[in-house]
Amino acid sequence: MESIKYLLAEDRIPRAWYNITPDLPVPPAPVLHPGTHQPVGPDDLAPLFPMSVILQEVSNEPRIEIPEEVRQVYAQWRPTPLFRARRLEKMLDTPARIYYKYEGVSPAGSHKPNTAVAQAYYNKKEGTRRLVTETGAGQWGSSLAMACAFFGIECKVFMVRVSYDQKPYRRALMEAFGATVAPSPSRETDSGRAILAEHPHSTGSLGIAISEAVEVAAKDPHSKYALGSVLNHVLLHQTVIGLEALEQMEMAGDDPDVIVGCTGGGSNFAGLAFPFVGRKIKGKSKARVVAVEPAACPSLTKGRFTYDFGDTAHLTPLVKMYTLGSIFVPPGIHAGGLRYHGMSPLVSHLLDLGLIEAIAVQQLDAFAAGVQFARAEGIIPAPEANHAVAGAIREALRAKQEGASRVILFNLCGHGHFDMQAYIDYHAGKLQNYDYPADEVAMALAGLPAVEV
Ligand SMILES: *Cc1c(COP(=O)(O)O)cnc(C)c1O
Repeated sequence: MESIKYLLAEDRIPRAWYNITPDLPVPPAPVLHPGTHQPVGPDDLAPLFPMSVILQEVSNEPRIEIPEEVRQVYAQWRPTPLFRARRLEKMLDTPARIYYKYEGVSPAGSHKPNTAVAQAYYNKKEGTRRLVTETGAGQWGSSLAMACAFFGIECKVFMVRVSYDQKPYRRALMEAFGATVAPSPSRETDSGRAILAEHPHSTGSLGIAISEAVEVAAKDPHSKYALGSVLNHVLLHQTVIGLEALEQMEMAGDDPDVIVGCTGGGSNFAGLAFPFVGRKIKGKSKARVVAVEPAACPSLTKGRFTYDFGDTAHLTPLVKMYTLGSIFVPPGIHAGGLRYHGMSPLVSHLLDLGLIEAIAVQQLDAFAAGVQFARAEGIIPAPEANHAVAGAIREALRAKQEGASRVILFNLCGHGHFDMQAYIDYHAGKLQNYDYPADEVAMALAGLPAVEV
């Protein structure tokens, strides 16, 4: 898009993504082949991803150049604004200074297009005709559908059943961008049919939808698979958020003491946090970095750090991550994007190394925080982002208790304009907290693959 905005913004958009891997004090565990349990090579992943993406997945380069075609698309909404939440500070009567990076200004309404555009670009360049994917809340599906429309690729989306029913407008958005959407579990795949045979009323899960998308992509030579979170290349593309924030915080004359993000698969959190964690590793920052997850699906705070599959039907490679077990189906909370059994291997590794912390928040506390934020700042956060807001407010109140003037930075990763039913249900008293489903998780963890580690 050639626009005046582009001409103005061009210089402010980073020219390269930040790869945290070469900065890590201990390298992350290798990804293993599901059959042999040996480390996978680029060729093993070639049926699913274009080679340029695979090379980014395993790259040790500290900086990876952002293609000009991708920067031009970014320029429609990037750099995204960094706001100081002055009215929220006042409402909380806190000495803390609260900043938020707002990713809801993208056309799809979240951070997801940062990687969708890059993935569609690389696929187009390597001749992919169709991208197949899954979506939880519909944020990723609509972002990829938009990116596919930009680059002239077909898009097929398996949408988790509970969101397909709860969020018809997200589906309409995907279809407006030209994508085909099926509720998951579906009858279109072996994985979907197997689940439906056992659980005819399954509400679905990201793990199941991933199985369906991977299955379809692997069987069709003209199709590839795209994942919206979890993997290294996705987190890499999202670092454009944190790189901009570094510069913007400098312009504001403040340095964050606490960085907060919500975690589903870990990509928006990593996108904001990794450039700051890189500085922390180099001794240039002492910031605490806090991941906030839902209490109903608490992989980081209650999961086990071990090898597991990324999907329910066990078609994906094995990755070492905090997991609740790949067959675990999380309760139907409204933050659909946070209903994933696992966590990005890189985010998991950082938690294991003690470079980040994690907390879990209940659904009702998250919505209470989101409503308070909306009344102060005028932006309705996505239900996922409410978890980050809750984490930031908790930090601000702690600063007040301690009488400490602290700088808090959080990622407002998306707006909630397509999630108003969740707010209607919240105000009608229909939302509930879910206790951590300990028994189901124990069962799912008992089924973990036996990998020597
Ligand atoms: C998808 C999504 C998430 C969860 O995914 P991450 O990879 O953890 O970022 C969170 N917030 C929003 C708005 C999303 O669309």
